[in-house]
Amino acid sequence: MSVVEDGHKILSNIIATQIDSHQRFGGVVPEVASRHHIEQITRCLDEALDQANVTYDDLKAVAITYGPGLVGSLLVGVSAAKAVAWAHHLPLVPVNHMAGHIYAARFVNEFVFPQMALLVSGGHTEIVYMKDEYSFEILGETRDDAAGEAYDKIGRVLGVSYPAGKTIDEWAHAGHDTFHFPRAMEKDHNYDFSFSGLKSAFINTFHNAEQRGETLDRNDLAASFQQSVVDVLVEKTLKALQQYPVKQLILAGGVAANQGLRERLEADVTRQFPTVTLIKAPLKLCGDNAAMIGAAGEVAYRKGQRADMSLNAMPGLSF
Ligand code: ATP
Ligand code: FE
Repeated sequence: MSVVEDGHKILSNIIATQIDSHQRFGGVVPEVASRHHIEQITRCLDEALDQANVTYDDLKAVAITYGPGLVGSLLVGVSAAKAVAWAHHLPLVPVNHMAGHIYAARFVNEFVFPQMALLVSGGHTEIVYMKDEYSFEILGETRDDAAGEAYDKIGRVLGVSYPAGKTIDEWAHAGHDTFHFPRAMEKDHNYDFSFSGLKSAFINTFHNAEQRGETLDRNDLAASFQQSVVDVLVEKTLKALQQYPVKQLILAGGVAANQGLRERLEADVTRQFPTVTLIKAPLKLCGDNAAMIGAAGEVAYRKGQRADMSLNAMPGLSF
C-alpha cells in the first residue's frame, strides 16, 4: 500500500512481506498468500496514510492491480480498493501489475518515447515495445519458465529458500562460468526466451555429481547458471534494440535487481547503443510494491482509465 504524489513522489510504500511463510512452505501457497493479504490489508492501508501524513480526503484516486497474479490475493486487493473508492467517492483506476513493474523506473527518470522494456520477474520474461505513454506491445516472451522462476527452482536444488534470486546472484559473483550451460534460443530470429532447458541441465549436472559422490562448487554453479541467463537476456534485448530504434531502455521486474544483469546490460548498451538511455528500476522497487502501481496508476488516471464496482480480478491478464 502506497501513497504517491503526482505519480512521481513516494510519500509512503508499505510492503507486507510474506517471506517467512513462503520459506516455511518452500514457495508461495496461493491459499496461504490470500489469507495473509486479508490479515494485513487494513493495517497496511492505515500505515500508508499515516506515514504519508494524509487522510482519505487528500487522495485523488485509488489505483489497484487487478492482474496478472494469484486470484485470491488479487481479489483481496480489488475488494479493498473498491471499498475505499466507494466510501470516499474516489475514482477507481485499474492497473496491470506488469505495467506497474515498468513504471517503477519512472521514479528514476522521466519517460521518453519510443522506448523498450526488458521485463524480468517471477512469472514473466518479456521484451516490451512502448511507442507511446502507456502503450505496450510484447515483442517476445518466455515459452516456458520465467527467469525468476528458474532462479527459484535451481535455488531449491541448492537448498536456498524462496525467493532464491538474490542469494544465487551473490554466489555467482564469487564464482566462474565453468559449466557452460546451454543458452537456449540465443541465436534464433525472434525475441522469445526459454529457460526450462537450462534449469534441467543445471539439475542434471547437480544430481549426476551427487550420485558420483562429488560436491560441485556452489559459486561456480551459480555463476554458470547466471551467465547463461544474462547472456540470453542481454543478447535478445540488443537484437531488439537494433530492430526497433528507441530513446530509452527500461530494466524492470524482480530479476532486474540482479547485479550481474544490471552491470552487463549497462556495459553493452552504453557501448553498442550510445544514444539509448538505460533506466534501471531502483533496487528497492524491482520486487512487488505498491508505489509502482501508483506511478502507473497516475498515467492511467490521466488517460481516463476507470473501473466501476464490477471490477474483477484477472489472474491471466496480459498487456
Ligand atoms: P510477476 O511480476 O511476473 O507476476 P512476481 O510478482 O512473483 O511475478 P517479482 O516480485 O516481480 O515476481 O520478482 C520476484 C522474483 O525475482 C523471484 O523469482 C526472485 O527470485 C527474483 N529475484 C529477486 N532478486 C533477484 C536477483 N538479485 N537476481 C535474480 N533474481 C532475483
Ligand atoms: Fe511482480
